[in-house]
Amino acid sequence: MKKGTVYLVGAGPGAPDLLTIRAARLLERADIVFHDALVHPGTLALAVRAEKVAVGKRCGRHSTAQRFINKRLIDAAARYTTTVRLKGGDPMLFGRAQEEIAALEAAGVNYEIVPGVTAALAASAELGIALTQRGVARSVLFATPRVGDGARASEWADSIAAADTGAIYMGAGQAQEIADALRASGMAASTPVAVVENASLSNARTLFTTLHDLPSIGGEALHGPTMLLIGEQFRVAQVAAQIQLGPERRDAIERQATG
Ligand code: SAH
Repeated sequence: MKKGTVYLVGAGPGAPDLLTIRAARLLERADIVFHDALVHPGTLALAVRAEKVAVGKRCGRHSTAQRFINKRLIDAAARYTTTVRLKGGDPMLFGRAQEEIAALEAAGVNYEIVPGVTAALAASAELGIALTQRGVARSVLFATPRVGDGARASEWADSIAAADTGAIYMGAGQAQEIADALRASGMAASTPVAVVENASLSNARTLFTTLHDLPSIGGEALHGPTMLLIGEQFRVAQVAAQIQLGPERRDAIERQATG
């Protein structure tokens, strides 16, 4: 059997130039690329010679779909030298990489992981507010309210309440549930929340709110992928006092003030 390698590659948060050089080189020589729905067309364009296959899993995806992807990766490795499985952000965070790794291992297929810039880091960059700050936040928790089989819905909320900074993935559509769960875990209604949509892209939007007001912006048209960042450093008054506000940040704060 001809043995190719499957590369699980992080595509970064969106902007094609936030790809690692290693990822860009692999895309250039890839024979076939299986990519997520969120991957930017400009990133895919780097895969000049590859057949491109959208395996557009979205939130709420089914395990049969995942099994189908696993099988396609294994089949591709038998046919091609370089197979790229391109995932948004970092492949090892909320990307079901472990299931693909397990399937590749079981099939005896060589694989490598190429890390990427995860959405929480792009969101922090968009805001110009650090996830860790001396005297304010010494720990960051990556979490999602999406539950797997057997998990209690509130487990994620308890862990965010115990961390200094929370970075919530796949949560924008459940603002009310998130606010309720975090309140039930003991967080104050006044806890600051920063909302960042389309981080790293030209249509990025940011706004500042609180746990109390989060549900009211949840219904607002958030069409793109969105991060919720939770922590004291996102309190608007502090933000305004501590940093030189660029026009975009001023705009974001004004938007919060006007609801
Ligand atoms: N592996 C990815 C996360 C996949 S889960 C990573 O490391 O970033 C998908 C979630 O990531 C989205 O629901 C959203 O919460 C977040 N996300 C991805 N890209 C984003 C972006 N450009 N801006 C804001 N959030 C983003």
